[in-house]
Amino acid sequence: MDKNLRILLEDVKNGHRLSEQEASDLFRIHNRDIWEIATVADEVRQDRVGDAVTYVRNQNINVTNLCVNACGFCGFSKKPGDAGIYFYDRLEIQKKAALAKSRNVTEICTVSGLHPDFNAQSYCDVYRWIREAAPGVHLHASNPMEVAYAARKSGISTQEVLTCMKEAGLGSMCGTAAEILVDAVRKKICPQKVSTEEWVRIIREAHALGIPTTATIMYGHCESVEDRVQHLAILRRIQDDTHGFTEFVPLSFIHMNTPIFRQKLARAGATGREDLLMVAVARLYLDNFCNIQVSWVKEGIKMAQLSLIAGANDLGGTMFEESISKGAGATNTDYLDPGEMQRVAEDIGRTLRRRSTLYELI
Ligand code: SF4
Repeated sequence: MDKNLRILLEDVKNGHRLSEQEASDLFRIHNRDIWEIATVADEVRQDRVGDAVTYVRNQNINVTNLCVNACGFCGFSKKPGDAGIYFYDRLEIQKKAALAKSRNVTEICTVSGLHPDFNAQSYCDVYRWIREAAPGVHLHASNPMEVAYAARKSGISTQEVLTCMKEAGLGSMCGTAAEILVDAVRKKICPQKVSTEEWVRIIREAHALGIPTTATIMYGHCESVEDRVQHLAILRRIQDDTHGFTEFVPLSFIHMNTPIFRQKLARAGATGREDLLMVAVARLYLDNFCNIQVSWVKEGIKMAQLSLIAGANDLGGTMFEESISKGAGATNTDYLDPGEMQRVAEDIGRTLRRRSTLYELI
């Protein structure tokens, strides 16, 4: 192992907080030293959260794929007149929510396309309908883009939207729509989305209102190493101030059916090296996060398992219905049986534990 790397990793184990430059250097490693970084990230994971591999029983309800935005990495959204548009009304939403409840899920997750007719009231209605049909199930919903859209459509502030959503039953908010929190990158991949500043403001507003959120990154398209680090630095600063993030979820870009890949504006997703380093460096850099989730939907279960010995401690959800990654070209995204999660966890000497959305063990 490179001597400087050995010293740096020792320092991190002893509490040194990685600088942005150091994180960039780690992301740039291409040789077998990757395993050294992963090993230290795994040790830090063990110290911070122990050996359990956690998961949540959850189900997605993506109410519509009709969307006024046209993000270049999105293979899910449709425009008026496109084939394959769908929209669930109250009856269908409640049928799905009741089915979720009967499957013993503890979390329903709902994020959708930005429907041209939606406003703040529409989102709150959906939450109330879900809560009515699946009482007691935690509602993990919305994201800063939906909140900004609802505010604009209803002529109210994002803070007011969040307050209404909380009253309607929102338990926690998705930290999606973050993509890469660097405006130059956002202009290329999602020019109509909230800016970095707006994303940060809305997340901080949610935390201040007692609405915890996840934190995500979508990487492997056209961003640089510096962009990734910039993104992680923003998340770490917010967490220092609010402690409102429940977990960090790296989302590896699924490229197949996306406009930016077809137009040759993005590469064909992250490599295995990049996937592994994203988890390991995040574990080391985000020293104020307890939970690093690996997405089996994005990475497949084999890569997810390797990530569990490179700093991750959570496998996310069982899912039951997934349409967003599927739309972008991913396969086998609908459901992962806890039995398979257990096999994967035990195969690396760990125990699978079921958790709530907010990481209480069940
Ligand atoms: S990522 Fe979300 S906001 Fe962007 S086009 Fe797809 S559904 Fe619409």
